[in-house]
Amino acid sequence: MPMTSSRLEAATRLDAVRGRITAAATRAQRHPDEITLIAVSKTHPATAIAELVELGQRHFGENYLQEALQKITLLRQLPITWHFIGNLQTNKTRLVAEHFAWVHTVDRLKIAQRLAEQRPFHAPPLQVLVQVRLGTESTKSGVEPGALAELLTGIAALPRLQLRGLMALPPAEHEESTQRYWFAALRELFMHAKRQHPTIDTLSMGMSADLEAAVLEGSTQLRIGTALFGERLQS
Ligand SMILES: *Cc1c(COP(=O)(O)O)cnc(C)c1O
Repeated sequence: MPMTSSRLEAATRLDAVRGRITAAATRAQRHPDEITLIAVSKTHPATAIAELVELGQRHFGENYLQEALQKITLLRQLPITWHFIGNLQTNKTRLVAEHFAWVHTVDRLKIAQRLAEQRPFHAPPLQVLVQVRLGTESTKSGVEPGALAELLTGIAALPRLQLRGLMALPPAEHEESTQRYWFAALRELFMHAKRQHPTIDTLSMGMSADLEAAVLEGSTQLRIGTALFGERLQS
């Protein structure tokens, strides 16, 4: 089958991102296989996701629930692992519990309790990351570092959830050294959390503009949108 131009573009972008990950892993003396690439497909159509699946990409992240559910339905025959990375309010927990494999943005026990109650019995445990708030202006969501330990202990005790680690969306910085400062702060919290909770093995940090800094500081899941799909179509 001849490659369409969008397919070719997708292949070129995916290769470029994989190349950046491999180069950063080499600098960090890490194996690139330790790092999962999550393609953040918000605002992009199901066809763009299907192209990347055909190129071997398996993990996809979505922020907006209604938009995500449409794509999940359209693409249900494809081997995709779906990650919910958007803001999570109590009225959205049921659909997240029913349709996603991972959630990156749990920041309160109430949300986790609802996810545990609503996770279908036939489904494997929902893989949970706790979003930590780093820096002041970045975002209103995320648990304060000082309240993290108690939240992790609460989540670890819940059924049908598997506590896997931490996620953060630090303030956007241009210098690699400043980017690393925030990622290093998250890694410190992660190392501490891991000692308390043996199921913790995942550090979700790094986006298109700062994936190198994230890999250098120990990221195990990169959430990459723009570098894989081009500029977002809206919002
Ligand atoms: C949109 C988004 C990303 C991807 O950002 P890019 O800069 O496009 O790579 C990653 N994580 C979260 C939580 C997002 O909302």
